[in-house]
Amino acid sequence: MHKLPPMRRRRGGTFAALAAFFTVATMFLGIGGASALSMPSAPAAAAQAATQAGIQVTDASGKKFAVATDTTFAPFEFRDGSGELVGIDMDLLRAIAKQEGFEVDIKSLGFDAALQALQSNQVAGVIAGMSITDERKKIFDFSEPYFDSGVQMAVGKNDSDIKSYADLKGKTVTAKRGSEGETFANSIKDQYGFTVKALADSATMYDDVKAGNSVAVFDDYPVLAYGVSQNNGLKIVTEKEQGSSYGFAVNKGQNQDLLAAFNDGLATLKANGEYDKILDKYLAKSEVTEQGGFFQLVKDSFPALMKGLWLTIVATVLSLAIALVLGILFGFFKVSESKILRGIATTYVAIFRGTPLLVQAFFFYFGLPQMTGQPIDVLTAGVLTLSLNAGAYMTEIVRGGIQSVDPGQLEASRSLGLGYVTSMRRVVVPQAIKIMTPSFINQFVITLKDTSLLAVIGFAELTYQGQQIYASNFRTGETLLIVAALYFIVITILTQLSNVLDRKFNK
Ligand code: GLN
Repeated sequence: MHKLPPMRRRRGGTFAALAAFFTVATMFLGIGGASALSMPSAPAAAAQAATQAGIQVTDASGKKFAVATDTTFAPFEFRDGSGELVGIDMDLLRAIAKQEGFEVDIKSLGFDAALQALQSNQVAGVIAGMSITDERKKIFDFSEPYFDSGVQMAVGKNDSDIKSYADLKGKTVTAKRGSEGETFANSIKDQYGFTVKALADSATMYDDVKAGNSVAVFDDYPVLAYGVSQNNGLKIVTEKEQGSSYGFAVNKGQNQDLLAAFNDGLATLKANGEYDKILDKYLAKSEVTEQGGFFQLVKDSFPALMKGLWLTIVATVLSLAIALVLGILFGFFKVSESKILRGIATTYVAIFRGTPLLVQAFFFYFGLPQMTGQPIDVLTAGVLTLSLNAGAYMTEIVRGGIQSVDPGQLEASRSLGLGYVTSMRRVVVPQAIKIMTPSFINQFVITLKDTSLLAVIGFAELTYQGQQIYASNFRTGETLLIVAALYFIVITILTQLSNVLDRKFNK
């Protein structure tokens, strides 16, 4: 991961424009600076500086580290009934942090995203049932191993056709993107003639098998065994493959104080019996938990979903406010006489309307920090993405609105002796607003729904909360119905409200 120094980012006009928008939008939000506080860059930099100065730094105490993890990898990390992150990794990390006197801010991102976040220095470390492999050791430093694992294959509970790798010929199997299971599946796929489909998390993989889209899943054996014991609808059909052990990871050469503290704490927990207690707590428990009915699910998931809905609304409101400013600014640029202003607005719209929102979200959250070395928190990245994207559409709404007012209106107003600005303000804009309102309402609804895409960068909005819930209870369909109903209710209320306002003010 080579980081370009900020001054070398000359990529011509487009990139410069993008960087300028980024800066402006960050200033608007006023949270760019604050976000750095919650990130590990300051301690990391201090540790590095101290190391360079020849001082041995092994003490992480008093510091706060962001640590990324998988969304669901029970019994290592998953949500309990109340939405709390629990599991062997979580308990171990918290116990070690307590022992060593440092604090952790755990970010449940998904496995692949957690590794991305670590590489872009969004987090100081990863704990996610992460196997210590030679390939990974080239870019990460690992702690002492804390659990021995291995890959295994599972199929649908009622599947009687697939009993071994040989039965996979011509079929599709699934494995987690970026995982050891995926590497293993890929290593034997030619020999047995099957296709590997990579998915983001264990819950989705199991659903894929149950839905019959894949015939088998390759995942770590303790996780499959735990899932089967919880009635996840699968059964295990092969012996486990020789696999690697799990370790806690930091970027190579970075956060060595944290790594040392982890190793130290782990050794203490192993010696005082706490480590065994944590393992027993999750592994001894294999009784199946009873599942309640649909309304029980609504009740249980309500607190987490409300938290998500709140963040959905926060992100929507912030993004729309900024998008409105951008839309008005660039909309007027687009109808201005100045070629330069029109050029700027056109470039902006072209970039943000011409690239997918998902790519923009990944770029702002993972890409930009890698290029600039400046971490960005998930709310800032999310709002930046949505506002710049919605701003581009708003620009076009504003331009269209203004241009659809008969030019004769402006001419008539000017011939009555009113200046350009006054004519615009008193005559053209009021008529334009009336034309623009339905499109604005449309854009509000689109942006609200687009917040769901931010789930992929781990922004804990409504869709993300839903995913977290079905990741641990395996009730995908019902949970998604509840999530969809919540969006529907909120959007219906908001549209009704805007329509009332529209009728009231745009008579
Ligand atoms: N142990 C596997 C790996 O490191 C899978 C980890 C996970 O899915 N969280 O690749």
